[in-house]
Amino acid sequence: MPYYSYGYESANTIYFILLIPVLLLSLYAQAQVNGNFSKYSKVTNRRGLTGAQAAEAVLRAHGVTGVGVARCSGRLTDHYDPRNNTIFLSDSVYGAATVAAVGVAAHEAGHAVQYAVGYGPVKLRSAIVKTTQFSSQASFIILMLGLILYSQTMLLLGIVLFGVVAFFQFVTLPVEFNASRRALETLEGTHTLEDDELSGARKVLRAAALTYVAALLSSLLQLLRYVLIFLSRSNNRRGGRR
Ligand SMILES: [Zn+2]
Repeated sequence: MPYYSYGYESANTIYFILLIPVLLLSLYAQAQVNGNFSKYSKVTNRRGLTGAQAAEAVLRAHGVTGVGVARCSGRLTDHYDPRNNTIFLSDSVYGAATVAAVGVAAHEAGHAVQYAVGYGPVKLRSAIVKTTQFSSQASFIILMLGLILYSQTMLLLGIVLFGVVAFFQFVTLPVEFNASRRALETLEGTHTLEDDELSGARKVLRAAALTYVAALLSSLLQLLRYVLIFLSRSNNRRGGRR
């Protein structure tokens, strides 16, 4: 097969074949998050602990002090903000005494603990967050220009920038898995949740972790697509065809 016959068609075929399972995984993960969160938001935990109280209990168990716990708006918007060292919990978590609320709140507290103990991956993630934000915005424009202007240099630069974004998502995985592990171990060790409740919280957190895996895979797929286009253009040129 001559070089130049390898073009956009092959790149697109590979992309679309891989796109389907990745898309299905993303949809599955999202459905799992919504389904499990809704399900376990209806289950009151036996100790009657609210999300805010659970977050504080996890912090206490790890001897972490000085972390704020505040309310934020939205659904599943819970997060820990290292800039003001505050755990933000949404309405259905903050004051809710459910299994889901305790699981999510404990996970966010797990992030606060990661920062407090200087967990390696979270440090790396913080160090590259600014670069990632820039790369994310710049890569989109540069990749588009590279495609439109048929510039291999720009395409390559866009690929590198997009690679930074994918790397960030890759580093996010251990951070997320570790926060959930800390949360569940603490909830178990402190007997905050009983076994059956713990399995509910675990389902909620596992589903959430899966969305991060799906996000990474879809970025890697996008990256692969640009690499294939880049290679097909290089080959076309070498084959004497533009
Ligand atoms: Zn998290």
